[in-house]
Amino acid sequence: MGRKFFVGGNWKCNGTTEEVKKIVSMLNDAQVPSGDVVDVVVSPPFVFLPLVQSSLRSNFHVAAQNCWVRKGGAFTGEVSAEMLVNLGIPWVIIGHSERRSLLNESNEFIGDKVAYALAQGLKVIACVGETLEQRESGSTLEVVSAQTKAIADKIPSWDNVVLAYEPVWAIGTGKVATPAQAQEVHAELRKWLHNNVSAEVAGSARIIYGGSVNGANCKELAGQPDLDGFLVGGASLKPEFVDIIKSAV
Ligand code: PGA
Repeated sequence: MGRKFFVGGNWKCNGTTEEVKKIVSMLNDAQVPSGDVVDVVVSPPFVFLPLVQSSLRSNFHVAAQNCWVRKGGAFTGEVSAEMLVNLGIPWVIIGHSERRSLLNESNEFIGDKVAYALAQGLKVIACVGETLEQRESGSTLEVVSAQTKAIADKIPSWDNVVLAYEPVWAIGTGKVATPAQAQEVHAELRKWLHNNVSAEVAGSARIIYGGSVNGANCKELAGQPDLDGFLVGGASLKPEFVDIIKSAV
């Protein structure tokens, strides 16, 4: 199928300078599959981006955890896509469920942000996922399709987008989706892309899974045909992140 495995580490709002340096040196020393086989992208908080960018091994890359929806200016507290580009940051995570729920980011706002970030030349990890309530009421596919549509409607190309399926009930809970649950939604998302974008995009777009991925459960998940990698939170701060990277092969 030719979709390169992708492992993202979302550090969220964690770390001190000392802790960040330790994680970077752990990553720099790790024996991992080659860059032809796996893309590794870690996402520290904004303030640590330059430190990580300058000290991380050259075959791993960095992502910001968010960026502003349009050109910078009078938006106190925000960081613009232009600034990330100026710093040479290649990736940005957009639409994480913590921002959707805690900061009320809507599907439409997230679609606008993805489009703006892509237009500035950033690559985007775009997150979708249902809550427990939505899953239990049987609306998972409807929810993730609507979230994906809000992005698809605004972007001219999927070349620089990785779609992250992160069920909200699995994030930070230790309650990982089963391989079958993940595969079902990934296959449906691919079908959605096929029917609503193009067969080509459906075949080439990477769809990664996030939510309580760890060193012990990654291998079986990685074996699912429509699962092209991971977005890892808690475990990305620990040595087991290296085992998750190794699940690419
Ligand atoms: P988790 O977080 O791995 O700690 O569940 C995943 C994420 O929020 O991206």
